Amino acid sequence: MEKIRVFIVGAGASGLMAAIAAARAGASVTVLEGMKKPGRKLLLTGNGRCNLTNLDKDLHLRYDSSGTDGAVPFVNSVLQSLDVSGTLRLFEELGLASVSAGSLVYPRSGQAQTVLGVLLAELERLHVKMKYNAKVKRISFSGEKGAWLLQTEGWTYEADRVVLCCGSKALPETGSDGSGYTLAASAGHTVTDIHPALTGFECGDPDVRAAAGARTKAAVKLLADTNNSGLPMTVLAKDTGEVQWTQYGLSGIVIFQLSRYAARRSGGTLYVSLDLVPDQTEEEVRHTLRRMLDHAGDAVGSVSLLNSYTHERVAAYLAKKMADKGTGGGQREEHIARALKNVLIPVTGLKGYDLSQICAGGISLNEVNPETLESLLCRGLFFAGEILDIDGPCGGYNLQWAWSSGYAAGTAASGTPGQ
Ligand SMILES: Cc1cc2nc3c(=O)[nH]c(=O)nc-3n(C[C@H](O)[C@H](O)[C@H](O)COP(=O)(O)OP(=O)(O)OC[C@H]3O[C@@H](n4cnc5c(N)ncnc54)[C@H](O)[C@@H]3O)c2cc1C
Repeated sequence: MEKIRVFIVGAGASGLMAAIAAARAGASVTVLEGMKKPGRKLLLTGNGRCNLTNLDKDLHLRYDSSGTDGAVPFVNSVLQSLDVSGTLRLFEELGLASVSAGSLVYPRSGQAQTVLGVLLAELERLHVKMKYNAKVKRISFSGEKGAWLLQTEGWTYEADRVVLCCGSKALPETGSDGSGYTLAASAGHTVTDIHPALTGFECGDPDVRAAAGARTKAAVKLLADTNNSGLPMTVLAKDTGEVQWTQYGLSGIVIFQLSRYAARRSGGTLYVSLDLVPDQTEEEVRHTLRRMLDHAGDAVGSVSLLNSYTHERVAAYLAKKMADKGTGGGQREEHIARALKNVLIPVTGLKGYDLSQICAGGISLNEVNPETLESLLCRGLFFAGEILDIDGPCGGYNLQWAWSSGYAAGTAASGTPGQ
């Protein structure tokens, strides 16, 4: 019997996993990749160490989608094909030993290259055909040939099944330039609004930018002033971690996590609030500052006192804000403690696709079967990975989505017609 011809578009995390699943299930598999090499983005993950999944027992609850039903039921269904422990077993079988740091899982080698290497070795073992510099420009179904046609610059391929694993628009230099959305739309699919996510916050205030290079531990909140009416504001998200002060504003994992909640937001003004001494109450900070002042005398500068608690550039920023605002009476230690515990910075924008790790938005989940990831509009067309309207936080969640959805789509795409 002729093997089913499955074509995977994109050799990123989801495409490589889809190809393995389809070939293991008996299909003849070809991967078409637009770049010269596979897995460009995968190699950059986790700062080159690849945080490949997360042991969070509530992992499925952490994903988001623009759709009214959210992402959870869809993700739950896809995880039935390959969950976290199944993923780790699969990688181990392929030759990848992993290690966890808290709930974050990395290859023991500490190299993303090892993850890519074991995937490629398995594809070779399974005789999957890899075509590079093969950017797919057009897909269409030919009733006459009874096949999908995939057009690249130099060739038109015929496929029984197609799995679109083209990623998003995040970091387009890695090959995921948004062309997957266009291919899906040409097949009649709805693509929801796309926004960069897991990215930095732009802050227009030059005093914030002047602190570039500083890193501060902080409890961070993302606040929305929905009607631009001032306080009280709605808390959209909060987290604690290291904030990196940059030439454009604020960055770091903790800011990236909050950016997912800013991505889909429209209207109103957003603020980041920082508590730069999250492990002490304002009262405790005030008390310590009083003792410092008692010892050093009132002549001691505010920058110096602020610098006892935070990076000198941030101390200079806070001192300037305090001077701009004026003290309005009260003790010095009160003002300084308040300044450290309640930093409020307006967000003027999100960094763009060039700096974002993922995109929020994608192919609408309403048009995709959550068990097989097959299009509900076009038989024989499947999707996996970030191209779908699902996004997760930093910490291995997005790669787990790529592995699970790739496995589910690849397996289903190699099934007999009508399955
Ligand atoms: C710097 C950075 C660090 C990250 N770190 C982590 C991490 O540690 N852990 C984690 O879970 N997630 C991380 N992520 C997110 C994670 O890498 C992505 O969510 C994941 O790689 C998406 O996989 P994908 O297969 O859907 O898309 P991609 O990995 O983007 O792969 C898509 C592939 O399709 C190809 N392609 C696109 N269009 C076409 C076309 N028309 N024809 C042919 N080929 C095409 C592209 O060239 C690309 O190779 C990180 C992202 C970035 C940018």
